[in-house]
Amino acid sequence: MSMSTLAKSIAESPTLRLNEEARLLRERGEAVIHLGIGEPKNRAPMTAILSATAKLSTGDIKYSPTDGLPSLKKAIIRYTEENYDRVVAPENVIVSAGAKQSIFNILYSILNPQEEVIILAPYWVSYPEMVKMCYGVPVIVAPEDGTFHPRFEDIERVVTSSTKAIILNSPNNPSGVIFSDAFLATIIDFCERKGIYVIMDDIYHKLVFDGKRASPAYQFTNKDVETTQVIIVNGVAKLYGMTGFRIGWAIANRKLVQVMTNVQSQITTCTSPFLQVAAEGALIGLQSIVENLRLSIQNNRDIILQELRSFNGVKCVKPEGTFYCLPDFRAYTNDSVALSDLLLKRAYVVTVPGKEFGMEGHLRLSYAGSVKDVTEGIARIKWALDPNSPNEIYIGDKKMIRDWM
Ligand code: PMP
Repeated sequence: MSMSTLAKSIAESPTLRLNEEARLLRERGEAVIHLGIGEPKNRAPMTAILSATAKLSTGDIKYSPTDGLPSLKKAIIRYTEENYDRVVAPENVIVSAGAKQSIFNILYSILNPQEEVIILAPYWVSYPEMVKMCYGVPVIVAPEDGTFHPRFEDIERVVTSSTKAIILNSPNNPSGVIFSDAFLATIIDFCERKGIYVIMDDIYHKLVFDGKRASPAYQFTNKDVETTQVIIVNGVAKLYGMTGFRIGWAIANRKLVQVMTNVQSQITTCTSPFLQVAAEGALIGLQSIVENLRLSIQNNRDIILQELRSFNGVKCVKPEGTFYCLPDFRAYTNDSVALSDLLLKRAYVVTVPGKEFGMEGHLRLSYAGSVKDVTEGIARIKWALDPNSPNEIYIGDKKMIRDWM
């Protein structure tokens, strides 16, 4: 059967594949612990549910403007003013089906074939695939071994006349690090001078720990929204526990937003208006829900770090935000895919191989779940790998024996 060579070359999302494998194991009755999942467990905010329900019950759910409902855009503009200290116009905002579609739409709208996008490892799995889907070339920059902080010199070295954009995600999925203000200032200044777009993926921007702050990119440019190279991407998925609502947005100069709107109009027409009003409900409702989530995740972060410390040889950079960490398991193996597979099949713990994020020998662990998931999950990983741990373990009422060491 004939299919597009490009489409065939696009990798399956490993996190979505692992979710499916976990679901099948759970269906079989296995006591699976999910340290792979990228979503908090809290319920959507009541204001989101009430807004969506009220809209649904009118029975009047029709197309919305392609770039988003004016009322949601207004809420996004207010959010941008409060959190980014920038006043933008409705023409600078476009709502999409999740931050994922926003990023794809940006890339599709800025890239000519063979133009390059710089992606910093460890990176979110979708960036390189999205760039390829837009006929662009992902250029990966790795950090110095043992750190997850990119160095400006390494980025500068790969810039060519074909470099169109760089994607920055801070706090970072999968490492949890926050890029320093000095780094952001340097890279943004450089890109402004070179005419390279800076796509700031801010989806975790308020999930930060220990009083730290992920500085908004606008802070490092004195250009206005019409002339800056900075494009902001955000959404309600992570901060409000609304992953299934699929609402994200981008903020950019109005010419680009117009092109993105044309592109989106030919693909999805618009995102569902009752999900848009739900997002609006979250943005204008009580914000303590975000702070509560942040506090419980920070607590989980402390617990996972403490559990990982008891592991011989496993090194973990302390996450400063998100709900992920990326411990280094190279003391046990360099093959993160095989390791993740062993943990899933033998210990029923879902982890994501670091290889998928450009960081072989590591595993991404999510601590977005319960404290029990975190402690039990790490205990099982320890049992599976650490020769000093007891040979037997109970998973549910099943006695498991370690016979692979
Ligand atoms: N960016 C990053 C770094 C993410 O981790 C995710 C979701 N895993 C997204 C964007 C996509 O967010 P959304 O669910 O709003 O599409």
